[in-house]
Amino acid sequence: METLEFQSEARQLLRLMIHSVYSNKDTFLRELVSNASDALDKLRLETFRDKDLVADTSDLHVAIEVDREARELTIRDNGIGMTREDVIGLIGTIAKSGTAEFLDKLRETKDAAASQDLIGQFGIGFYSSFMVADKVTLVTKHPRSAEGVRWESSGEGTYTIEDVADVPQGTSVTLHLKPADSEDHLADYTSTAKIKEVVKRYADFITWPIRMATEDGAEPATINSRKALWARPASDVTEDEYAEFYRHVSHDWNKPLETIRMHGEGVFEYQALLFIPSQAPLDLFMRERKRGVQLYVKRVFIMENCEELMPEYLRFVKGVVDAHDLSLNVSREILQHDRQIQSVRRRLVKKVLSTVKSLMADKPESYETFWREFGAAVKEGLLSDTENQDAILDVASFASTDDAERPTTLAQYVERMKDDQQHIYYMTGDSRATVENSPHLEALRAKGFEVLILTDPIDEMWVDAVPGYQGKAFQSIAKGQVDLETEEEKAQAEERQKDFADFLAWMTTTLTDRVKEVRLSSRLTTSPACVVGDAHDLTPTLEKMYRAMGQELPPVKRVLELNPGHALVTRLHTAFAGNDDHSRLAESAELLHGMALLAEGGDLPDPSRFVRLMADHLERGL
Ligand code: ADP
Ligand code: MG
Repeated sequence: METLEFQSEARQLLRLMIHSVYSNKDTFLRELVSNASDALDKLRLETFRDKDLVADTSDLHVAIEVDREARELTIRDNGIGMTREDVIGLIGTIAKSGTAEFLDKLRETKDAAASQDLIGQFGIGFYSSFMVADKVTLVTKHPRSAEGVRWESSGEGTYTIEDVADVPQGTSVTLHLKPADSEDHLADYTSTAKIKEVVKRYADFITWPIRMATEDGAEPATINSRKALWARPASDVTEDEYAEFYRHVSHDWNKPLETIRMHGEGVFEYQALLFIPSQAPLDLFMRERKRGVQLYVKRVFIMENCEELMPEYLRFVKGVVDAHDLSLNVSREILQHDRQIQSVRRRLVKKVLSTVKSLMADKPESYETFWREFGAAVKEGLLSDTENQDAILDVASFASTDDAERPTTLAQYVERMKDDQQHIYYMTGDSRATVENSPHLEALRAKGFEVLILTDPIDEMWVDAVPGYQGKAFQSIAKGQVDLETEEEKAQAEERQKDFADFLAWMTTTLTDRVKEVRLSSRLTTSPACVVGDAHDLTPTLEKMYRAMGQELPPVKRVLELNPGHALVTRLHTAFAGNDDHSRLAESAELLHGMALLAEGGDLPDPSRFVRLMADHLERGL
């Protein structure tokens, strides 16, 4: 017998369970029954794939046994079981992505309700048994191992593991229940009535039989109805039943935001039961995240995370697709090339997007939650799913200068557009504050144009790829020339341009290492200067992203625009014309460029030199 230590993250989670911050302790049973059901699915699939595997699949089921005297509750399955390595790897450690982030957040959260919320998001699986048990014994045998394994722990730092002979196929988990009076809310889990009630509530839809002897000496009987939810008439299924099933497929303890049922008939028959979660998973933007719905064929579970049925940008959608006309041993390779699977996927995507659209109209609060949690992921679809670009733009919303509190849809923006306005104006940036305070916004604001404020990293990418919305092109106010002037103003501007021509040429030469041109601006009213990109230039954020990904890029030079109405600019111009000391003036030009970079929240190429010049010039001004 070996004594091993839990991995440190597992130890922290276990401590949480033992001191059970989660008040609904019944859920441990759901987790264990869910694991048992998964194990039965896996065994059935394994025997299908590997004809040499020696296993008995004639009576796959879950059995629950209660020993009142010993205060023991056993959940047993004759499924796939675990090898010794599996037990150490799966039970002794936590491999879920996002665990570290989860624990960090939990540590920061002092408030009990908020930590329950977090735990709900994470889902704690097998370890939840330590909410109600002071000792857990797991005995298991995998069909490929010669011997079984016995694992035992009280959840405090270590566990023991040993090989044992004569273990039946599958896994049994025995909980030694905490004393009944040890906790106020601890229900009596030695009561078969209680167990039956919990199974009914949480696991009725499990398609494998769950058996229990409800009276001493009685024969075990099946206690769940085993009916697949998606095969029952929609009017028959309660919201609570959907919510429980959602928890089973998603490992998320929250209620779903929205439930979607679909039925396809004709050449390719299928039923789908999809859920939009109410909270983004912690790993939504992590590389190792999983996606996709579960695939069933005629009620039989085929695979978890069927990526072929859900695109990357809808990776948060959970649920089940039950296809009637696929073979039971369908493989990933076949699915990838199956035209019918592709057409089902297309229909699922359209249905999800149209569901979101109807949320906008019918349940605005749900829509807001949806967009807040998943908007940044959905926008990826603007790049990857051109077929649905318009549908995605229809359900998108954005922060805007129109209203500081409420985001706007594009349709609402277009409605508010001025009569002569050709473009949908936007600006990208790190935060609302940097965008709102950037000099680029001045003239648009002065003239009453609305500007969308785009602050998600993905925004930088799609704005260049999407041609427009309702015939109106997207136009960055930090790129290219913004045409905001009347004919009269244009004539004046041309006049000024002539006046400033020599000065601008000199400044362009002086700053040639940093900018590609210096010109007069029509977008500034109060700031002296700003930097803008050409229409097809990379934005500074994108430039930074590419460099962070290790791409070699030549430095991207942008255009410095000067406000001809600002005293600093006119004084500099006069000094230049008066032939003052040009090396001093060159320093002023450099400072002007530095200030423009700072104003948009950007980085200075040489901050210490900037400060030195600034101090020098300030001092001479005193
Ligand atoms: P999850 O089910 O979310 O993966 P759990 O903590 O519930 O997390 O279980 C961890 C892993 O342990 C499972 O993924 C599974 O591989 C294994 N496991 C748990 N219970 C069983 C069981 N009854 N039979 C076989 N494997 C199991
Ligand atoms: Mg589990």
